[in-house]
Amino acid sequence: MQDLYQEIILDHYRRPQGRGLREPFDSQVHHVNPTCGDEIDLRVHLEDRDGLPYVADVSYAGQGCSISQASASVMFESLADKPLTEAFESLARFQEMIQSKGENPGDEDTMGDAVAFAGVAKYPARIKCALLPWLAWKDAVLRASDASSTDKDDQ
Ligand code: ZN
Repeated sequence: MQDLYQEIILDHYRRPQGRGLREPFDSQVHHVNPTCGDEIDLRVHLEDRDGLPYVADVSYAGQGCSISQASASVMFESLADKPLTEAFESLARFQEMIQSKGENPGDEDTMGDAVAFAGVAKYPARIKCALLPWLAWKDAVLRASDASSTDKDDQ
């Protein structure tokens, strides 16, 4: 299982999904993990689809260790083109697993490739690497939501 998980992480590192900064976007953030030197620029584009807020796109560019880069690719797969509530649930599941010190192995049915990071939970130094893209996404969404509620106030 560990070998399979390492293979999934390496695969995302070599062929990152959704990489590159795209337009349009509602907010952009820059996050760093100074303990490892990982960096990410991340943009989110939110969209209203039949009254349901959607994460229409998440685009990113970054550099750093294989864990942080692979995690950005998995974050994109897990959160982009999803209803916002579903994306927040995926974030919560990932955070819970990665902060469980190995107690929570994750659930492949609901988490997809994100379960491959379960082993990272046993290495405290790498937890921040894995979380960096996900927390950048959360920050960007909160900023985008603030911006859109300000827009509505203006109308
Ligand atoms: Zn790192």
